[in-house]
Amino acid sequence: MWRRLVSLSPLLSSSKSRLINQAYGFNACQLFSTQVLNGAEDGVSGTRRKPFITFVLGGPGSGKGTQCTRIVNAFGFTHLSVGDLLRKEIYSNSENGSMILDTIKEGKIVPSEVTVKLIKNAIEASQNNRILVDGFPRSEENRIAYERVVRAEPDIVLFFDCPEEEMVKRVLNRNQGRIDDNIDTVKERLAVFAELNLPVIKYYSEKGKLHKIDGTGSEDEIFERVLPVFAALRNYPTADFVLFKFLVTRPSVYYMITWVP
Ligand code: UDP
Ligand code: MG
Repeated sequence: MWRRLVSLSPLLSSSKSRLINQAYGFNACQLFSTQVLNGAEDGVSGTRRKPFITFVLGGPGSGKGTQCTRIVNAFGFTHLSVGDLLRKEIYSNSENGSMILDTIKEGKIVPSEVTVKLIKNAIEASQNNRILVDGFPRSEENRIAYERVVRAEPDIVLFFDCPEEEMVKRVLNRNQGRIDDNIDTVKERLAVFAELNLPVIKYYSEKGKLHKIDGTGSEDEIFERVLPVFAALRNYPTADFVLFKFLVTRPSVYYMITWVP
């Protein structure tokens, strides 16, 4: 790595800001994508910083996916819909495809080891340091498996709270061609949500991480309620800032990368 840094020195030494930008191009992205696997401690410690992870929870049809798209556009997050990751597995003929299909048809929960692996890989592949994980964890078992494998907790959790009748109406009207958007499966999904997902929501509420959003009304009205949660994150440290801090706290590294023999 140092050779790569030194080889960039003619580009980097022209000015400090240019140095940070050029170095960021290869360095910070690698750091953000590897540290989840390493289970590094949270917080800025040198260059090792985990992405800012938001879990997005709510019953079927509560508006998770719709609001995630708005958050992506407004705040530059990457959206990982866990339901979509699982559906992709079905269509990619993976070894778990038929098991996932049957589980989704029944409105049940796919085993944690399958889901957590997909999420971990997707976080690792993303070069963004702001990630929305939509529709997970669906049970305490899911949550514990994620914490064990990724060795991290979400930074915040959004919960779209919506009455059952409204959720059923939305799901049955959305016409997305999903095999689980029928009245029988929706009833099962609602039962699973109440039994297994609500305890997860309670857990994060007790940890002070939960942001409960009233999920009724128009898309715009709901997004108005989401905005304040993320507005504060506009100043969330960027990759540039993290690298800058790394350099200024290690003068020898700064010297190495700017030194031209
Ligand atoms: N699913 C799962 N684990 C997850 C996310 C989804 O088992 O972490 C399965 C589950 O069967 C669920 C289905 O995928 O009912 C669809 O999930 P999605 O989040 O797409 O549905 P939504 O809640 O948005 O209607
Ligand atoms: Mg969804």
